[in-house]
Amino acid sequence: MQSHNARVSVDLAALGWTDADAASLAALGQTGLVAGRVTLEHTHIYTVRTATAEVLARVAGRLRHRATSRRDYPAVGDWVALDPVPVHGRATIHAVLPRRSGFSRKVAGGRTDEQVVAANVDTVFLVAGLDGDFSPRRLERYVLLAGESGADAVVVLNKADLCDDLAAVMAQVAGAAPSLPVAVVSARTGHGLESLAPYLRPGRTVAFLGSSGVGKSTIINALVGEELLPTREVRARDGRGQHASTSRQLVILPGGGLVIDTPGMRELQLWDVADGLAGTFADIDALSAGCRFRDCRHAGEPGCAVRAAAADGRVPQGRLDNYLKLHDELAHLVGKQDERARLERKRQVKVIHRAARRHKPRE
Ligand code: GDP
Ligand code: ZN
Repeated sequence: MQSHNARVSVDLAALGWTDADAASLAALGQTGLVAGRVTLEHTHIYTVRTATAEVLARVAGRLRHRATSRRDYPAVGDWVALDPVPVHGRATIHAVLPRRSGFSRKVAGGRTDEQVVAANVDTVFLVAGLDGDFSPRRLERYVLLAGESGADAVVVLNKADLCDDLAAVMAQVAGAAPSLPVAVVSARTGHGLESLAPYLRPGRTVAFLGSSGVGKSTIINALVGEELLPTREVRARDGRGQHASTSRQLVILPGGGLVIDTPGMRELQLWDVADGLAGTFADIDALSAGCRFRDCRHAGEPGCAVRAAAADGRVPQGRLDNYLKLHDELAHLVGKQDERARLERKRQVKVIHRAARRHKPRE
């Protein structure tokens, strides 16, 4: 049984509450509202942790009507002002308190909108694997993303047990992220994980960015001290995994730190790579407008303007090769992301429905 509605008291500071949040709540000037932190988001329902309970909540009609962007809706990690008195079994969110930091993804639509996928993160761990797949360019993109978010970033090099030339990777990291702290860890053996402790103090919130497979779930499990998240093996085995993580995307670690892990956060890498590709290879993108086929992959199709430019030296062959390699990487990522996101959503829907059933008021 989950602890929804459980009357378990916690100090709000243990959930990350600060004086600034208290001031924001007071500034609303509304009585009868309590503070809560969003721990799970679904389309119309949120799980919110208050000082005394974990409740299911909906946004107030006024908040919905005033919203001009998806940014204005609560996200996991947000502090909200909540009327805890249930209406049809749901508490009501009246306001989202100002965010200290936020990760957002662009959502395609009539116009480009922005959806927040993790809020009020103090430190973001930029995770890369030391198993031979290290890409300084990818790390650069993550550094940019972290910079835009307002969270502090720390590079975490995982799978140290698989690396025999750490110095070479460290040199590349120093080039791509010169000013950031670097932690070298092995989630598998536990080596180096203690170096993350300073960022995991009580009330401090962390999140993870990094390609699929670098070991984010394994690190989180190691920090939690139990199999909270299904790792790649488990995901492959049961395709869904009945794990506690399905009920929460913000968890409190035994040592008091808070971890946010949302599907949206995991999807950020996709946008990241896509943006990076377009920006870095603007010349090739411009040339591709001259290709005969709109979806030309520049892989030997007839009438390919990009190949033609490489053939007569307007684009260095090495540059085109890099572009094609990154394109493959992106396509591969998209496939993985789609599958992962699909499973994750399916899982969430189930959990929410299960929770909703449990909380149906008796009539
Ligand atoms: P995620 O997609 O970033 O959440 O990655 P996972 O946590 O699912 O890990 C992907 C794979 O890497 C799994 O097979 C893990 O067992 C493996 N893995 C994770 N951390 C380590 C590590 O430190 N060393 C080794 N050798 N493998 C690891
Ligand atoms: Zn082409």
